[in-house]
Amino acid sequence: MKTNIERIDKLCENRILSRKDFAILLTSMDNEDEEHLFKTARAVREKYYGKKVFLRGLIEFTNYCKNDCYYCGIRRGNKNVVRYRLSDEEIFDCCDNGYKLSFRTFVLQGGEDMFYSDEHIARIVEGIKKRCPDSAVTLSVGERSRKSYQTFFDAGADRYLLRQETSDPSHYAKLHPKELTIETRKRCLDDLKDIGFQVGCGIMVGSPYQTVDNIIDDLFYMHDFEPHMVGIGPFIPHSDTPFRDKKAGTLADTLHLLGIIRLMLPKVLLPATTALGTIHPTGREMGLSAGANVVMPNLSPTGVREKYTLYDGKICVGDEINNCLLCLEQRIKSVGYIPTAGRGDFIGFKRKQNLTDI
Ligand code: SAH
Repeated sequence: MKTNIERIDKLCENRILSRKDFAILLTSMDNEDEEHLFKTARAVREKYYGKKVFLRGLIEFTNYCKNDCYYCGIRRGNKNVVRYRLSDEEIFDCCDNGYKLSFRTFVLQGGEDMFYSDEHIARIVEGIKKRCPDSAVTLSVGERSRKSYQTFFDAGADRYLLRQETSDPSHYAKLHPKELTIETRKRCLDDLKDIGFQVGCGIMVGSPYQTVDNIIDDLFYMHDFEPHMVGIGPFIPHSDTPFRDKKAGTLADTLHLLGIIRLMLPKVLLPATTALGTIHPTGREMGLSAGANVVMPNLSPTGVREKYTLYDGKICVGDEINNCLLCLEQRIKSVGYIPTAGRGDFIGFKRKQNLTDI
């Protein structure tokens, strides 16, 4: 009989466990196991990234969305949302402010808003690259065609975040209306990787109907896909969605998964998410101590932040960015890490040439 400590060591050595070992580990860790997991995960992240924690400036540029995902506060069907879009100039202003504060990655996230054509997004990416030449641009604008993704890449976009949400088709169908499928989602992720983006996938921890088996499927999916980034945070209900009465994901489950993902994908860029900071006042600090190495302060204008509400209780909606940054830097330092300016690319990643450069 193996102990959980042995399972953790085995995961660290082989980067993978059997289904059965994952199942036991995910459901039976005691305090001592947990400490061993986090300590091992910290050692692995420090081997590759030292004490650095990378800062990404998040710009929530539109809350219009054509999708109706059951968990998400900005779903099309939520009539209580006051919708907004940032103009190109407003987006550039966010980046200029962020740049002065030493941000070198800008993450443009939004609902799936077709107001922004491929060419429009490409123009925004080019505009950011021109103003902030040594910065990385990350897009998180959902499912589009391979051709669209190629247009974004050719415009200079570096990274793309698209969570698979769950790799199990029947669980996927419980979280999304039928026009959204895991097959399309995975096709998008494959296209993004193939085109040459640094790609992030991920899940919500404790999403409604999620089973331990679902989580194990997601771990195997991530192991095979080898993402450069993984975004995970607890599911948190939003009062204007069909999941308003569902339970939130837990702190412990999220921290365990962060530790496990760090051991499975040693070089992965792994954020301690805002959702984690929302379910516990020091959730992000605990996330960093469990293996995370990225935080994403909000660079959106303060006036729109509360309108970009994916779940109830979102933190940092009112703070000026300077205060936000000071607060986060303090939080990072409080657990022994160093807030780090710079692009913070995946170690060893080489960008393919753009088609237009050849
Ligand atoms: N439209 C983009 C951005 C989505 S928002 C896209 O499709 O990728 C980014 C992530 O927030 C989602 O992938 C989802 O995992 C998470 N999210 C949405 N609603 C949430 C909720 N209620 N609780 C926690 N996370 C949520």
